[in-house]
Amino acid sequence: MSPEEFRAHAHGLVDWMADYMASVERYPVKSPSAPGEILAALPLHAPETGEQFGDIFADFTRTILPGMTHWQHPSFFAYFPANSSPPSVLAEMLTATLGAQCMSWVTSPAATELEERVMEWLREMIALPPSFTGVIQDTASTATLCAVLSARERSSNFAVNEGGFPPGRRFTAYASTETHSSVERAVRIAGLGAAALRKLPVDRNYAMQPEALREAIARDRREGCTPLVAVATLGTTGSTAIDPLKAIGDVCRGSGVWLHVDAAYAGTALLAPEMRWMSEGIEAADSFVFNPHKWMFTNFDCSAYFVRDADALVRTFAILPEYLKTGGAGDVKNYRDWGIQLGRRFRALKLWFVIRHYGVEGLRHHIRRHVALAQEFAGWVAASADFELVVPAPLNLVCFAHRAGDDFNRRLLERLNQSGKLYLTHTVLNGRYTLRLCVGQTHTEAEQVRQAWALIQQTAKQFAA
Ligand code: PLP
Repeated sequence: MSPEEFRAHAHGLVDWMADYMASVERYPVKSPSAPGEILAALPLHAPETGEQFGDIFADFTRTILPGMTHWQHPSFFAYFPANSSPPSVLAEMLTATLGAQCMSWVTSPAATELEERVMEWLREMIALPPSFTGVIQDTASTATLCAVLSARERSSNFAVNEGGFPPGRRFTAYASTETHSSVERAVRIAGLGAAALRKLPVDRNYAMQPEALREAIARDRREGCTPLVAVATLGTTGSTAIDPLKAIGDVCRGSGVWLHVDAAYAGTALLAPEMRWMSEGIEAADSFVFNPHKWMFTNFDCSAYFVRDADALVRTFAILPEYLKTGGAGDVKNYRDWGIQLGRRFRALKLWFVIRHYGVEGLRHHIRRHVALAQEFAGWVAASADFELVVPAPLNLVCFAHRAGDDFNRRLLERLNQSGKLYLTHTVLNGRYTLRLCVGQTHTEAEQVRQAWALIQQTAKQFAA
């Protein structure tokens, strides 16, 4: 493709992208595609000879698009959002055009130094202590794995990396029953074994009970285990429960256990000073992660990982083969040693664009707007005769259910999502099938939330009749 052909196709694509953003509401939020339908429409073999861009793009709109769920639709209320924004998309276009591998300072000094600066901005924006140092990871799952591996290495004086697990040494990890599955995955990958993860009971708001943590650590010590790491969650995936960080931090500090804070979703709320009650006690944490790619208008993937002891992180991961020896680089960061992957995308660029485009106050404005819309929805549910809140909504996720029971709610959810007009998901809280409505899309306004409530009530009435 010549530069002139590229220019023409790119202009066409940008027009398509702008139209898509302006009219995404035309599409069903959740793809109605049946299993295997897209696969069956794709040729069995790769083309031997190159095809025209126009044909490829026509197949994108004809075959691929119907199989897409529209995460940027303003009536997307499912899971947690992965909201993007025009400045983030523009930055991604530049990142793709530059196509740089940003593994070492020398492979693109600007990528490293911009990452360093935007992570300092983020730290200040969410009021983390200045003693934390940040690095961008692909996902919170990876960041949590880094935390567990760093905890293992620090605790063993970096011996497991060298010689494997000493015979008879049993490490244990702690998290609540509501913790994200990435924690168990990290514990498995780190070689502790899934059974080493103690899943602690929660209180009536689904937050971890610090006393249970204290008791579990003491019990494990008595039995000869080495308590290694505890994960506290700010904003659990099921219901955005907030674990009591201060009390958990006190337990960890007193017992030498690494405290990792998973704020993958709700961390963005810390932009607003009135939400910082959630992070009270954060100074006791060893590591903290939140995802700008969930609720901070930044395209997937972009996960902000902060550590108190950057040396422990780098010592856990650094390996220097001959081909990566760059020499003479001086006092610079080489982010290849700050995590698992060697090759790294230039992710800092989109964060920089997003933060500069909105400004910190602009970002806060949208976060507050989402929380207010969700609180309004929660008020309607609480006042309804047919529906009820299953748990209080601390942020912008509302967990609710129709009073007619699990089967009714299951069928209601299916019918609502089939309508294509909105998308909700569910969870199970205390054995009860619960609908989740999360307000976090970039372009969700009061209108879509009102329409969602009207459709939910109307569909439930039809069912009940
Ligand atoms: N932690 C929590 C609390 C989450 O809600 C999620 C995803 O929803 C994750 C971790 C995993 O995030 P990621 O997809 O970035 O690995």
